[in-house]
Amino acid sequence: MRKFVIMGVQGSGKGTQAKLMADELDLVHISVGDVFRWNVQHHTKIGAQVRRIVASGHLVGDDLVESVVRTRLTEHDWNYGFIIDGFPRNARQAEFFLESYDIDGVIYLDLPDEEVVRRVLARRLCSRCGLDYNLIASRPQVEDTCDVCGGALVTRSDDNPEALAVRLSEYHAKTRPVMDIFQRKEHVAVVDARRSVLEVQAEIREHFDLPSPRALAARPAGRAAGPPADRMNGQPSDQPAAADRSAS
Ligand SMILES: [Zn+2]
Repeated sequence: MRKFVIMGVQGSGKGTQAKLMADELDLVHISVGDVFRWNVQHHTKIGAQVRRIVASGHLVGDDLVESVVRTRLTEHDWNYGFIIDGFPRNARQAEFFLESYDIDGVIYLDLPDEEVVRRVLARRLCSRCGLDYNLIASRPQVEDTCDVCGGALVTRSDDNPEALAVRLSEYHAKTRPVMDIFQRKEHVAVVDARRSVLEVQAEIREHFDLPSPRALAARPAGRAAGPPADRMNGQPSDQPAAADRSAS
């Protein structure tokens, strides 16, 4: 059984990388962001809490995250292992997690802040059907217009420089102590996340001696094909593929 933690700031492609690993290695992808998004979309009590917190540019509180994760992990549907994304969020949770689960490794997707800003501020969302766009990686054919339904593209309310600066500084302040603990006790793979989805995935696999990605194995030379990075982010499993793409 394989158990991984994947960490990285929003825009680092964490969801995409986790999903690629999960799909090919039969791991269950446990995405805290997806669980919360599901709650927002289904107008649950947790969803309403999350909506308020995110709109103010902050991260969801540790206790709320922890209870969601604990519940998820008790479902025990991960026969071959899991890759968890969005947890742990602080030193106490990291200690608890390491004591409770025999983690194989921690993947840290490293992305400079300037690149995070560039990627996140390029995100757009269709105001009608909810499809996501990115002006860097997946531009619409007609400017500001959804390819699928013709709706107007808008920016998410929390994708503005001020909210992003708050999220980035909170992220770094919170991630450092967690990484310190992992670095002392576990095998941490620090991977440069500026490269293509498949290059990043291949490096992760190499670190942990895992089979290389199928798309690479199938075409050993030249650039690997596949959907653009931005169309491959993690989805809640019960959502239509393009309905809510997370770039976390
Ligand atoms: Zn649309």
